[in-house]
Amino acid sequence: MTNHKDTGERQQKIIVFLLFIVLVLISIVVGTFNKINLLEKSPVTEIPDIEPVVEEVVESVGKIAIIIDDFGYRNDKVSEGFLSMDTEMTYAVIPGHEHSQTMSKKASQSGYEVIAHMPMGSTIPSFGEEEYIIKASMTSGEIEARMNKVLQHLPEIVGMNNHQGSSASANRRVMNVMGTVLKEHGKYFLDSRTTKETQAESVMRLIGVPTGRRHVFLDNNPDETSITQQLNLLAETAKANGFAVGIGHVKKHTLNVLQREIPKLKADNYEFVFISKVVN
Ligand SMILES: [Zn+2]
Repeated sequence: MTNHKDTGERQQKIIVFLLFIVLVLISIVVGTFNKINLLEKSPVTEIPDIEPVVEEVVESVGKIAIIIDDFGYRNDKVSEGFLSMDTEMTYAVIPGHEHSQTMSKKASQSGYEVIAHMPMGSTIPSFGEEEYIIKASMTSGEIEARMNKVLQHLPEIVGMNNHQGSSASANRRVMNVMGTVLKEHGKYFLDSRTTKETQAESVMRLIGVPTGRRHVFLDNNPDETSITQQLNLLAETAKANGFAVGIGHVKKHTLNVLQREIPKLKADNYEFVFISKVVN
């Protein structure tokens, strides 16, 4: 009888033990299943976070950087028109004229990039800039003093380009003195290329001053049809080259064409940038 009782108890223990094993196995299986589920779920839950990051990026067809030269001669409807353009524009102020400091300040405060427009041995007689003009006949000390005078006169400038007839840009010594001052003050030099013999870019690169060149003059011929053609040439150059630099002047027809054509070029995905974005 006791044997039967013992056998019964042993069987009960075995059943309890087996049930325990089954429960352990079930919990392991369920645990693993949950882990797999979590692994499968995690990338799914991340998708909504990733989706907003995937913005519709419009590829730029090319970067266009426009400089408007000769600010400082006038302060009127035309200059005001340029200062209300809804585009990244770089304005070059010729030192020493009646409106030079006013325009430099205004342009900078209105969010545009401002550079000094340097007369360098121009053969065209001009009043106002005589105290700032740089000539190849000057000593290096005189050139350095004039550069520092320009930097004090137009404190808003972030760079410099050269005015028409700037024959001194062909002189490596002159460019070297100018470049050294620019380097010291962290400014760039954009070569307007007013003479084929220009040495500006090569000297600036040697010194380590960010530099670049003008590709297209927009308004040498001042009628609007011609300016529009030149602007389209600038856009084609930007498309082929990645970027292009155009130079125009503070003139009514230039303003009209830019106000009319820039929105069209933007619609064609051209990107308008400051000169500082294309010099290197
Ligand atoms: Zn000029």
